[in-house]
Amino acid sequence: MLTNDQLTAWDREYFMHPSTHLGQFARGEAANRIITGGSGVFIEDRDGTSLLDAFAGLYCVNVGYGRSEVADAIAEQAKTLAYYHAYVGHGTEASITLSQMILERAPEGMSKVYYGLSGSDANETNVKLVWYYNNVLGRPQKKKIISRWRGYHGSGLMTGSLTGLAAFQAQFDLPLPYVKHTEAPYYFRRPEAGMSEAEFSKWCAGKLEELILAEGPDTVAAFIGEPALGTGGLVPPPEGYWEAIQEVLAKYDILLIADEVVTGFGRLGSMFGSTHYGLKPDIITIAKGLTSAYAPLSGSIVSDKVFEVLMQGTDTHGSFGHGWTYSAHPIGAAAGVANLKLIDELALVDNAASVGSYLKQGLTAALGKHPNVGEVRGEGLMCAVELVEDRGNTTFFDADKKVGANVVASMLKQGVIARAMPQGDIIGIAPPLCLTKSEADTIIEAVRTGVEEVIGLG
Ligand code: PLP
Repeated sequence: MLTNDQLTAWDREYFMHPSTHLGQFARGEAANRIITGGSGVFIEDRDGTSLLDAFAGLYCVNVGYGRSEVADAIAEQAKTLAYYHAYVGHGTEASITLSQMILERAPEGMSKVYYGLSGSDANETNVKLVWYYNNVLGRPQKKKIISRWRGYHGSGLMTGSLTGLAAFQAQFDLPLPYVKHTEAPYYFRRPEAGMSEAEFSKWCAGKLEELILAEGPDTVAAFIGEPALGTGGLVPPPEGYWEAIQEVLAKYDILLIADEVVTGFGRLGSMFGSTHYGLKPDIITIAKGLTSAYAPLSGSIVSDKVFEVLMQGTDTHGSFGHGWTYSAHPIGAAAGVANLKLIDELALVDNAASVGSYLKQGLTAALGKHPNVGEVRGEGLMCAVELVEDRGNTTFFDADKKVGANVVASMLKQGVIARAMPQGDIIGIAPPLCLTKSEADTIIEAVRTGVEEVIGLG
């Protein structure tokens, strides 16, 4: 086993980390943390420090750490058959069973699951499905995809373009053509203070319609959105938002892709965000909670309506020319089957609803009146505390002050991991769905103390 010093030296010398300040890390100016184990909502680092992971890794370890049911299923699958591909009709019991289990849980009108490895590659697949669909229907010009500012859909070429956050595009020559962005459903930052939620939702739908008309409805193929915004700020939609948006999409025959990479499999206190908010998607993106990140696996759930056209396409053009070596990887699929069973057995979707509501109430009670807390918001086990220069006014703190990052650093010293969301001073909390009320109390106390330490009592 390597010593801590060796590990740190090799880490800085050989490992290029994602979403990391490369220079600072390589020079040893930014911290590294080497994780060695986990159990429930806690992880442990190499120094033996135990930390409550209030962001479930990257809001993906939904069943919590150290679940032997999932680990055993992975080991069993690896011993029996570690790999076989899924091309030209091949499959395994795990991939077939998982498909049935996903469809059993999915919103109405869904037909099949196509598998990938990550949320990003699933969304790349979705764009190809949409383009193929319109080619089969004889509408080759209907190709543009609309997403929202602050949406997060991955960091590939197309998906990094769909993502509406500057940090994922600047210096990468993104967004690519074919991608257009519209307003985020961010009621806290509405254009006029006096607007009701319903009025703001109508305003967002109006902006979408304006964009569609400006681009030409015949050129717009699909709209992609997370049922509740995730990485862009953990923002549940305002009242009437999805109803108003879906009316516009139906008017111009535009497909809806619900990106449920974060919200799928219980995070909002419902199995899917689409059912939670009344979306009727044509395609659903799933990843993270599908396996609780015990193995990489993602999927595109395709509706009956879209699948009919895809079948028509292969009847005309032959085999569907899209696939990854690791599509429906048996180890990922076995993890998925065990994980979905565990979510049911432990009633984690209901726990996300009840403990989530307790957490949000506790955060509101602890911080809701603080003059620098603009908003405490959330749904299920996805909550945020947004910090602002002054209350009643939505001005950001000067970004150089790193207020959000400093609060998160203070929480870390108290043994709690939260995430400073990438745009604005937003403290993100999205723990494993097995969180208990007493663990929620620990998180609330850590945020309160962190805000007090960094900004003061206000
Ligand atoms: N879509 C959403 C809503 C996400 O939150 C993410 C990742 O956080 C992705 C897609 C991309 O998933 P991945 O990082 O697995 O490529």
